Amino acid sequence: MNEDDYHDVPTRGRSTTRKSPTRRLTPDPQRTRIDPRFVIQNLDSIRRDEDYAAGFSAGAIHDMQLQVRALHKAGRLPDPTTYDKPGEAPNISNFLQGCTYLNLCKVHQLRAMNPNLAKAWEVTIMNRRARSTINAMLGEELEDLLKLARDYITDDDEITRFGRVYRKAPERIRPRVCRFYTGPDSCRMGINCDHLHLRMEQRGPSW
Ligand SMILES: [Zn+2]
Repeated sequence: MNEDDYHDVPTRGRSTTRKSPTRRLTPDPQRTRIDPRFVIQNLDSIRRDEDYAAGFSAGAIHDMQLQVRALHKAGRLPDPTTYDKPGEAPNISNFLQGCTYLNLCKVHQLRAMNPNLAKAWEVTIMNRRARSTINAMLGEELEDLLKLARDYITDDDEITRFGRVYRKAPERIRPRVCRFYTGPDSCRMGINCDHLHLRMEQRGPSW
């Protein structure tokens, strides 16, 4: 089978994928290049069943993202998407059904790296207006959040607070880290701040 046939690779059904983790098509860490057939097959499975993503590490999903970029660059990835247009963003479930493979990777990489940060963002996307395209707006936000995901902690309270600010004024939400927040009372906007209040991860000395 050549690589152009990857969409014809039979995929397993919803029930068997979850029950048979050992049969999962994971990228081989020894290989520098992941077989594109497996990447798209896995991403299609993840799109059909979000739980399927739980079997992949953030690194494995990042590898898939690189492979998707390579396929795009080579013009070999049909990637129909509902959201290459301006307008109001859908909720996260609908977005995951109709977003590009690239954004699908980004959402699941963020979930794997920092589940709370992913939750805080996911509750604030619906009905926000994209001037460029919905895919581009949310994709750029995800890029920014992925840069923070390893070094910042998102407290449970922050998911609640950010959700509350969003519900009051969805258009004001800025899903980027607040530069003034270092702890309670450090940001003068307090609980009404429209940026994310994240704590820097304290790491011990590396020696
Ligand atoms: Zn703030």
